[in-house]
Amino acid sequence: VKFVYDFTEGNKDLKDLLGGKGANLAEMTNLGLPVPPGFTITTEACKVYLDSGEEPVALRDEVSAHLAALEKTMDKKLGQPDNPLLVSVRSGAKFSMPGMMDTVLNIGLSDKSVQGLAKQAGDERFAWDSYRRLIQMFGKTVLGVDGDLFEDALEEAKKAKKVAVDTELEAADLKKLVTKFKKIVKAEAGRDFPQDPREQMDLAIKAVFDSWNGERAKLYRRQERIPHDLGTAVNVCSMVFGNLGPDSGTGVAFTRDPASGHQGVYGDYLQNAQGEDVVAGIRNTVALGELERIDKKSYDQLMQIMETLENHYKDLCDIEFTIERGQLWMLQTRVGKRTAGAAFRIATQLVDQGLIDEAEALQRVNGAQLAQLMFPRFDEQAKVEQVGRGIAASPGAAVGKAVFDSYTAVKWSRSGEKVILIRRETNPDDLDGMIAAEGILTSRGGKTSHAAVVARGMGKTCVCGAEELEVDTKRRRMTVPGGHVVEEGDLVSIDGSSGKVYLGEVPVVPSPVVEYFEGRMHAGADDADELVEAVHRIMAFADRKRRLRVRANADNAEDALRARRFGAQGIGLCRTEHMFLGDRRELVERLILADTDVEREESLKQLLPLQKQDFVELFEAMDGLPVTVRLLDPPLHEFLPDITELSVRVALAESRKEPHENELRLLQAVHRLHEQNPMLGLRGVRLGLVIPGLFTMQVRAIAEAAAERRAAKGDPRAEIMIPLVGTVQELEIVRDEADHVVAEVEAATGTELKLAIGTMIELPRAALTAGQIAEAAEFFSFGTNDLTQTVWGFSRDDVEASFFTAYLEKGIFGVSPFETIDKDGVGSLVKAAAQAGRETRPDLKLGVCGEHGGDPESVHFFHEAGLDYVSCSPFRIPVARLEAGRAAS
Ligand code: ADP
Ligand code: MG
Ligand code: MG
Repeated sequence: VKFVYDFTEGNKDLKDLLGGKGANLAEMTNLGLPVPPGFTITTEACKVYLDSGEEPVALRDEVSAHLAALEKTMDKKLGQPDNPLLVSVRSGAKFSMPGMMDTVLNIGLSDKSVQGLAKQAGDERFAWDSYRRLIQMFGKTVLGVDGDLFEDALEEAKKAKKVAVDTELEAADLKKLVTKFKKIVKAEAGRDFPQDPREQMDLAIKAVFDSWNGERAKLYRRQERIPHDLGTAVNVCSMVFGNLGPDSGTGVAFTRDPASGHQGVYGDYLQNAQGEDVVAGIRNTVALGELERIDKKSYDQLMQIMETLENHYKDLCDIEFTIERGQLWMLQTRVGKRTAGAAFRIATQLVDQGLIDEAEALQRVNGAQLAQLMFPRFDEQAKVEQVGRGIAASPGAAVGKAVFDSYTAVKWSRSGEKVILIRRETNPDDLDGMIAAEGILTSRGGKTSHAAVVARGMGKTCVCGAEELEVDTKRRRMTVPGGHVVEEGDLVSIDGSSGKVYLGEVPVVPSPVVEYFEGRMHAGADDADELVEAVHRIMAFADRKRRLRVRANADNAEDALRARRFGAQGIGLCRTEHMFLGDRRELVERLILADTDVEREESLKQLLPLQKQDFVELFEAMDGLPVTVRLLDPPLHEFLPDITELSVRVALAESRKEPHENELRLLQAVHRLHEQNPMLGLRGVRLGLVIPGLFTMQVRAIAEAAAERRAAKGDPRAEIMIPLVGTVQELEIVRDEADHVVAEVEAATGTELKLAIGTMIELPRAALTAGQIAEAAEFFSFGTNDLTQTVWGFSRDDVEASFFTAYLEKGIFGVSPFETIDKDGVGSLVKAAAQAGRETRPDLKLGVCGEHGGDPESVHFFHEAGLDYVSCSPFRIPVARLEAGRAAS
């Protein structure tokens, strides 16, 4: 294998091997842009080193060969006293990662070669400045010396000289500083600063390799789910100098504004400076536009190069550059990070410029970004006092009174207060408080901490790991940087999309994107903002491309109408259980308690018109679109009063000698229906088979509602769905009864109804016998929530709060299988069942209902599995539409 690539040998598609920085340096080199020559040591070399603890034997020789070639090109030798070549050693993984080793510049300088550099450049001050920088960077990053020691010494030198900035230090001062720095190295690292240039380079390379397994880097990878075995590349790049006087400098630039996407001149420039000086804020930078005045030639050339890069990468690029005595050099570029809003805008701008097509535009955005844009957010105009920043664990903008324990959170929220639950970290005991709170803030823990996992599962705003905040739960207070104390009851605001924490109440504004989907803001209108325009167009691209249809989970006309506005093409899941609650509870109780057929039929008769009216409204709202109605699913005891409450009532009545015959019967029924494990108990189709007349009443209500809509010249498209079927026999019995009822209604009303009857596939047995089940079903809807529970054998209501954190931390799964479909397990059952079903019945309609229907990664899976539609909650519909479009392009 080859472990080292010259910049002329690589290209931008080799990121796995050369890392992002190396691949792009090579790309720029091959585009003919002015990149200082150099070479890249591959991630493969790093992997060998990390696995074996030793650098591969061949590596040293290859590095020597490439170094020799570089020396020849540059006509200098690394660290040679009279004509030194200097290089930078730069880390560069596939993904840029905080915690990786910083770059070391000016490698090759020593007590001898510093003289040579001074002569070469005709500038003694510059040479000593470069040398002190080398010792400082090398000491800190390679030898592990506390960087503050160098900073303090530099400050002292400035003070002694009574100057404000480092550029005012002269050669003699810097020379003294070098002596000081070397002493610091000796004292702290227990060794001399290496004078051998090759040793400097080799140690720096090794330090980059080692930094891959630094604690901070590992933590970051866990949080971002970046695999631990990628390794990092190392770039060795000949130095160019921005610190050679006022005609030199260094800067950063963006080809367009990463916040808005607008084209223009964005960036910062600093004269007479090297490397990190620009971002380190040691002196005030000037806006990039100023460069035109300072050095018109370099400025024009830079603008030209930026245009070249944009046209080449067909995307926003960010750039690092240096000017050495009027000569421009490119030191880095990459496709730049951007805000979610800018991603949409830039994608449409690039289409308008003819750089990319619609399919490519869809790849430039994603559902997570769209979801982020749909959360309400803090008013940008508002005056805010930011006091901390943690990890953006679960998006949203939440405002409330600070509480420091779960009990208070629940108590206060019951009395109508909005609260933010603040903890060092959360555990399962905090669950009630988390449910009661508007948002959750912790000072410890990352993206897979308990707080983060549970909050995401609940869709609750969460900022975690805000380490500058000192949370003292015993004294119910939090101290923020600067010493201000937040007491229980003080208002705080947290932004789960940015991780920012504010004091006081920051006003919240609705998302313009939601206003648009709701039809309260229109694309093309005068006042529509650019973001809405862009979202509108991207959604149109997605709708044109996608094959999957998108339906909504909705149980009432109001939700159905909203879903339609959001682009739903029908209802994939209407849960009928809510129709059994509220005022109707009494009727349901009577149904459950009925001793005789007559009593039972009586209560069913009373429920019928109520159910029918629900469906009439729903079919009207969804006129012309399919509506899948699921017959009653949850266990019956859910409709009866709480067992403890009822026992108390009975006991009280007894002691007061009051009549309590009804309560007693209820209590007996509750006992009779009590199950140890209700989710695996009497529910779904089992209920329909055990309680005569229940399902037929529901079918009659659906059929009569459809007939009524037909009579009113509507176009109802009802589909009847039987839940929790495990075997085709169950379905056949229910189906026969249903067919019978539908025929009756058809005869009575003189209308042909064409109601489809199908089933949910949510038990492993149903999936495994899908071929048989399809004999009796016109459609399948995969109930992936229950299917995940039953395939894994864990209860969704319990596990997210108990052992999922540990599982995520141990990497047993990267993401909760309730969030993203488990492709290998649950997913392969879905695929097999879909195939078996279609073999029996080629026109079998296949859909998914359940949370996965609105999850980006899962949507791609369902597209590939050949399903016809996904169904999700109204709010996720745009996300599903977008991802379905992306999956198809
Ligand atoms: P990071 O990934 O932190 O940006 P870089 O490797 O890009 O680290 O380097 C840090 C700084 O040093 C950047 O400002 C970069 O432009 C500058 N730099 C890196 N290599 C050289 C070089 N050969 N000559 C001059 N400046 C360099
Ligand atoms: Mg850089
Ligand atoms: Mg279910």
